[in-house]
Amino acid sequence: MAKINENYLELEDSYLFSTIAKKVAEYQKNNPDKKIIKLGIGDVTKPIVPAVIQAMHKAVDEMGTSEGFRGYGPEQGYEFLRKAIVENEYKDLGIELDEIFVSDGAKCDCGNIVEIFGEDNKIAITDPVYPVYVDTNIMSGKKKNIVYLPVLEKNNFVPELPTEKVDIIYLCFPNNPTGMAISKQNLKKFVDYAIENKSIILYDAAYEAFITEENIPHSIYEIEGAKEVAIEFKSYSKTAGFTGLRCGYVVIPKSVKGYTKSGDLVEMNKLWNRRTTTKFNGTAYVIQRAAEAVYSEEGRKQIKANIKDYLENAKIIKEGLIEAGFTVYGGINSPYVWLKTPNNMTSWEFFDELLEKANVVGTPGSGFGVFGEGFLRLTAFGTKENSIEAINRIKQLKIN
Ligand code: PLP
Repeated sequence: MAKINENYLELEDSYLFSTIAKKVAEYQKNNPDKKIIKLGIGDVTKPIVPAVIQAMHKAVDEMGTSEGFRGYGPEQGYEFLRKAIVENEYKDLGIELDEIFVSDGAKCDCGNIVEIFGEDNKIAITDPVYPVYVDTNIMSGKKKNIVYLPVLEKNNFVPELPTEKVDIIYLCFPNNPTGMAISKQNLKKFVDYAIENKSIILYDAAYEAFITEENIPHSIYEIEGAKEVAIEFKSYSKTAGFTGLRCGYVVIPKSVKGYTKSGDLVEMNKLWNRRTTTKFNGTAYVIQRAAEAVYSEEGRKQIKANIKDYLENAKIIKEGLIEAGFTVYGGINSPYVWLKTPNNMTSWEFFDELLEKANVVGTPGSGFGVFGEGFLRLTAFGTKENSIEAINRIKQLKIN
């Protein structure tokens, strides 16, 4: 008799975005003439930039020649990309490190990282939160180990330090779903906490490229001491429109160490390397060449222009909502706008109202955790026309 992993039974029935997709499909089926504007799921809409496309064409052609053909590549990623990451993402910020593992995206990395941690860690996860951190801990039997750090309006959506001793802390800034960023001073408090408590911070910087303000860290390693206590996840998905191409990376400095039960120190890098070489055969060569092209002169320019457009959409959405009388957060260092539902509606009530009366799809805040209740997330990843149209429709709702 095959036994299942019963931890899976502890999970919510379906992933948040599958529930939304089902609701939207149902509404569209019953209202085929309505034009629905989807500002729900955080997926990009702009085509891949020409510099990246050219790099992929070149790599594809290479693969068709006996000199250029590649079979299995290094599990950790090709040297050309790892070097480009070190130079462009870290050296430019004055950070010296080279412990990069290239992957097929941050979702897998954030999810798989649980495997190199022991059973009895106390795990702090912010709430509301990108659901992957919670679900993957539940899948691995750690539901009871999770403590939630409320992310509240009164604290400008920056969590307070854990009030009890925790071993692992998940942080994501700029944040999904709130769209809010963390200052260097506030992040330093978490790094100091981790140093003092021998904890490890899992820092998700998937939205780093959207930072526009000064004093917001682009990498946790900008904070003194972080190289001893932080693992950082990054992705080309939102930065360069790679949601369909799939490429990201995780940084695990050799100085980040965990403990054995008997108190010996072990490099987390070593464990992740062991896991990677056993379970992963590398990101496709063509895709790694595509990621490398993100750092070319042309690539940088083209990608910057796309991000600027998305941030312009965020501004249109945010300012439009404020004009319409909403209380709104995010959208400055992030493609996400986090709005307070009007008239004390629940997140799902306002989701339904938006879908039915404005034909606009958002993401209910409560889907990201209990402290997301009473909020809704809109993304700036649509087109400018759709962002304007969506706001015009929302303005007609007359919320007060
Ligand atoms: N981390 C956060 C906070 C995200 O919001 C997302 C995607 O929406 C990811 C990671 C996943 O990124 P990737 O496409 O690289 O798997």
